Amino acid sequence: MKIQTLKQAEQLLQEYCLCDSCLGRLFRKDIKEGNNSEKGKTIKKQLHFKKKIITSDCWLCEGLIDEIPHFIDIITRMLEDYEFETFLIGSKIDEDIKEREQHLWKELQLQDAEPIKMEINREIGKVLEPRLRKTVDIANPDIMAVIDTLYDYVTLQIRSLFIYGRYRKLQRGFPQTKWPCQVCLGKGCKKCNYTGSLYETTVEELIASKALELTKGTDESFHGSGREDIDALMLGSGRPFILEIKNPKKRTIDLNVFEKKTNMTFKNKLEILSLRFSSREEIARIKAAEFRKTYRVTLEAAQPLNKEKLIKVAQALQGKLIKQLTPTRVAHRRANKVRERIIYNCTIESVEGFIARLTLETESGTYIKEFISGDDEKTQPSLSELIGIPCKVKDLDVIDVKGE
Ligand SMILES: [Zn+2]
Ligand SMILES: [Zn+2]
Repeated sequence: MKIQTLKQAEQLLQEYCLCDSCLGRLFRKDIKEGNNSEKGKTIKKQLHFKKKIITSDCWLCEGLIDEIPHFIDIITRMLEDYEFETFLIGSKIDEDIKEREQHLWKELQLQDAEPIKMEINREIGKVLEPRLRKTVDIANPDIMAVIDTLYDYVTLQIRSLFIYGRYRKLQRGFPQTKWPCQVCLGKGCKKCNYTGSLYETTVEELIASKALELTKGTDESFHGSGREDIDALMLGSGRPFILEIKNPKKRTIDLNVFEKKTNMTFKNKLEILSLRFSSREEIARIKAAEFRKTYRVTLEAAQPLNKEKLIKVAQALQGKLIKQLTPTRVAHRRANKVRERIIYNCTIESVEGFIARLTLETESGTYIKEFISGDDEKTQPSLSELIGIPCKVKDLDVIDVKGE
């Protein structure tokens, strides 16, 4: 130990009453061995400093260091309810203590002293790691316990659980996510039967219900890769989604059980498949991904249809670029502009009188109903325009979402 350090420590102890930890923490770089408390003891021994200082008399921490076992107990008890592999301890230190600490650093011109916050976080982690058989993870812990030393209070921050999957919607008439009542805007009124919502259920709600049950989470958030119309089915390989479960108590749920329970309960209504655990980062990917879609369209024309003509038009549409001005029905939530989209494929399946069935493969974001009807010439060209007969969509189903 440097003479300089000893002299500084001696002067300091004449002026301030400091516990072993608080003293050791100030000079921790000058002594190799031991934790802060042991370092403080070494310094006091070398100085033949005999006065016994109990921690609650410490000018700096006023006994906070002695509360470490108390915090360990609180945290251990709080964590009992949760399943996790990694954790981290954080703390919010009483401002008065922080001020006194900074005052000493300034007075002694110390560059390398350790903040009391770091000692508390580290010492608690060191005890809990072997006791709970879990690992401290600084970057991405499953649970972070934050101590507020002033109020003697601990809060837990639980990392959300993310589940990726694809869904098939087998029944028409319900939206992907909550659709607030347009009259009361979600507050609840006569029109919406005081539910705040125009539809009884949503894809989100159906998928989340079993997941919340299994994970014992408190809330959820649903991220779909695009959405289909309320009256459209979503078939084929399904639409990708990520479900975020907030504050889960269980993290290692069996995804097969989740899938089976969901598909059994909502038989003929909704199905989930291809489940796996995911991450927050993947949400951006499935949100941004431009998945090509294949639709099955049933259209109704104003006059009887000619099959040969329809097939010719369909052939001419392969790889065709169309321009769509924002449709009237979505104008309230989307910018009014012209979007260019490609029709990759159009196949006529059947024609009977006024009704035709076709398969359409288009670029992500194509407005299909408007491509068929023309939407008062807002979409050009449109199928109606090309065959010279006004048509409109009767049924529209998504039968495939490509790209994964
Ligand atoms: Zn102290
Ligand atoms: Zn309402």
